[in-house]
Amino acid sequence: MYKDTNCGEPRESTAGSLITVAGWVHRRRDHGNLIFIDLRDRSGLLQVVFNPEYSEAAHELAGSLRSEWVVQITGKIVRRLPGAENPELPTGTVELSATKIVVLNKSLTPPFEVSDDIDVDDNTRLKYRFIDLRRPKMQAMLKLRHRVTHIMWDFLTENGFTQIETPILLKSTPEGARDYVVPSRVHPGQFYALPQSPQQLKQLLMVSGVERYFQIARSFRDEDLRADRQPEFTQLDFEMSFVHQDDVMAIVEELYLKIFHELLPDATVSDPFIRLSYTESMERFGTDKPDLRFGMELTTIIETAATSDARVFQAVASSGGTIRGFVAPGCGNYGRRDTDRLTDFAKSSGAQGLVFIALDESAPSIDALEDDHIKSPLKKFLSIDIVKQLANEMGAKPGDLMLIVAGTYRLVNTVLSNLRNEMARRLELVDENDVSLAWIYDFPLFEWDDDLNKWEPAHHVFSSPKAEHMQYLDTDPGKVLADLYDLVCNGQEMGSGSIRIHDKDIQTRVFGVIDYGEDEIQDRFGQLLTAFTYGAPPHGGMGLGLDRLVAILAGEQAIREVIAFPKTQSAVDPLFEAPAIITDQQLEELHIRVVMPEN
Ligand code: ASP
Repeated sequence: MYKDTNCGEPRESTAGSLITVAGWVHRRRDHGNLIFIDLRDRSGLLQVVFNPEYSEAAHELAGSLRSEWVVQITGKIVRRLPGAENPELPTGTVELSATKIVVLNKSLTPPFEVSDDIDVDDNTRLKYRFIDLRRPKMQAMLKLRHRVTHIMWDFLTENGFTQIETPILLKSTPEGARDYVVPSRVHPGQFYALPQSPQQLKQLLMVSGVERYFQIARSFRDEDLRADRQPEFTQLDFEMSFVHQDDVMAIVEELYLKIFHELLPDATVSDPFIRLSYTESMERFGTDKPDLRFGMELTTIIETAATSDARVFQAVASSGGTIRGFVAPGCGNYGRRDTDRLTDFAKSSGAQGLVFIALDESAPSIDALEDDHIKSPLKKFLSIDIVKQLANEMGAKPGDLMLIVAGTYRLVNTVLSNLRNEMARRLELVDENDVSLAWIYDFPLFEWDDDLNKWEPAHHVFSSPKAEHMQYLDTDPGKVLADLYDLVCNGQEMGSGSIRIHDKDIQTRVFGVIDYGEDEIQDRFGQLLTAFTYGAPPHGGMGLGLDRLVAILAGEQAIREVIAFPKTQSAVDPLFEAPAIITDQQLEELHIRVVMPEN
């Protein structure tokens, strides 16, 4: 070994010992005759002092050191002089008095400092990711991620799961995105598809008698680029046989509580997890990914609102839409600028407009509201009685702001759920120490696709309809709920899973609803259907996003902050400059001709 001690280890108790360390020159300071460097390795920083009295040669060489040079230093650990301690550093009471230094490698001046407070664009960070990852925060992230997967491995192993790798070169395993494809050289004109998830494979493993499988699996989805999407991401993928929905949830709950308690010991974590049916979640929060760390629940007020003289309300009510809203507490004094901003925000989520009713805090109570206490662009169409009634229905008090949106159920929910999050942000309602973990369950099996004009699976085609809803499968698919569940944390989807269909006939009926043709079924799902005819056990499982989980644990917004080598938002790797063109010879071997788009 080039070193016998890590930089972060020496303490007063080891003063006097002769050690050798190796690492990167973090910083150099010359103080007259003495040269100080902070030496860095993965364990932390150690101050090294070069005094010509101890070694003239080492002192001279130290004078030429530059940031990020790699060196090996031998010397004696000594106590720092009183007043020279650095309480910020775990090694801050000692320093290494150097007698020998070997330069192991030099470095160009790095494009940015190896420090946590840098202000560098993402592209530069990713282009020099090997330097970016030297930063303490990134080193901590890599370790955190490792600890998460370590806990997963241990916990699942203890619970009888077997880790099994599944192929990357395979055929389309649809999860609702486009496939990344790989051309076959030996089978001209044929392609593998990278798995969007190991879904069919893990189901086949259940038919194979594995009973409990898991994998920290890479999934590949060629989706339209959106903020915080990665073309490849990592899931904790698992599957269990002979289980009901509650059994799957119980395993995840135990594992995730363990992870959060171990890695975020000071956080307040929902224990047990909150449970909301999909319908209840939509009703109360307008979304299937509710942030449950704050209130501001939605209320449907269509009956009252439609009795007002407001045309917008009447029109929406008569066209079968809905009118819903929520109360922003203490925002009754919002001025024009604030309400304009909120209106713009609502419009950016698709709303035609936003109706607000501000209640002045000087009103003694809702019952005692008077005309002067009310501000609203619809004021002339809303009688005082209607405002009182709306306030009571929505739970508003004097000093509050009622935010109301009218339109289709889907649109109103989208707008209000976004607005609810926005208001929580503005009002700083979120306690960052809170971790709310919730199961959303009983999702519909299908959703209507207006563009395709047909039913599509809400999650994927393998989820089992609830037994009592089987009767609607052919007659009223929109009514069919499934044993389908999502895990949601702080308003973000952490993963999805379901109890699967394990019966060939039911699976075939579900394909029928989605209007898959016989050939398509055979081509994409033939292997699974065949397996189902050879004794498939009841089974279910989940795919849980690892990147998102680590991001939440690390307090990061973007998942690329917790992936060692992520791609940019335009799916590019600036370090390798991937994707890239390949040589003509490669193309020829693959029997591929590239036709570039015209623009
Ligand atoms: N394969 C699913 C997904 O990737 C998860 C599951 O149902 O297990 O979303």
